[in-house]
Amino acid sequence: MDLGIKGRKAIVCAASKGLGKACAMALAREGVAVTINARGRDALEAAAEEIRRETGGAVATVVGDVVQPEIRAKLLAACPMPDILVNNAGGPPPGDFRDWDREAWIKAVDANMLTPIELIKATVDGMMQRRFGRIVNITSSSVKAPIDILGLSNGARSGLTGFVAGVARKTVGHNVTINNLLPGSFATDRLNSTVATMAAKQNRAVEEVRSERIRGIPAQRFGEPPEFGAACAFLCSVHAGYVTGQNFLMDGGAYPGTY
Ligand code: NAP
Repeated sequence: MDLGIKGRKAIVCAASKGLGKACAMALAREGVAVTINARGRDALEAAAEEIRRETGGAVATVVGDVVQPEIRAKLLAACPMPDILVNNAGGPPPGDFRDWDREAWIKAVDANMLTPIELIKATVDGMMQRRFGRIVNITSSSVKAPIDILGLSNGARSGLTGFVAGVARKTVGHNVTINNLLPGSFATDRLNSTVATMAAKQNRAVEEVRSERIRGIPAQRFGEPPEFGAACAFLCSVHAGYVTGQNFLMDGGAYPGTY
């Protein structure tokens, strides 16, 4: 299927590894020029080179923490009229809610709620004027079914989800959609470190904890980042113009509800 986005321009945040990188790769395969970002320069440049090599597409890089306003300004300067925005940042750390002070909450809300909202605010009017825009926020399955040790993520990402539910109805009449992509367990560095933390906490072998997690997923495996990237590219396609304000869950069937 031709996704109809060849020649479009995208900003993909937090994209040197994992799900963000997979989204950038999938968009670049469709002929989208991508501007990617991450804090670590080496991994970001390596990801940019890999995307160029595999797709032949144009890739620009902006090094820095997307939570910082000056880095967001640099992203917008590197790609001033984006047609596509993929919001992403690292997730908050796991823990017990009793240990999180105001500072921990502000950090989580800043990264996983306010940063995407700021970038939506900065891009959406231009997209509406140009009558094309696709915004995808990478959130988490924890928005649909909370994960007990990830209370910071459950809370901050639900705030973003509530905001998007409202604004997505305001933009779609101008052919600008805003949707959330909710990963369950995908085989990335983030997942590996979550499994390792859990194993250390429970004094068990990493492999044992990994197998146990896989057994709990109806698909009997972790998701692969390219599967996630492909879903993102579809939501950014011309064919998805009638989809907005949705929470698209990709979790191998782990969420047990009917709806
Ligand atoms: P990952 O493999 O650890 O990759 C994270 C990427 O984001 C890296 O490129 C990292 O590079 C960049 N990054 C992190 N914080 C950043 C920041 N403040 N500014 C700019 N770049 C930043 O993680 P992932 O698995 O792809 O996860 C992506 C998001 O999905 C996270 O929010 C995660 O919590 C969420 N999620 C993932 C899963 C899963 O199973 N993988 C499940 C549910 C939710 P630098 O470190 O160099 O900045």
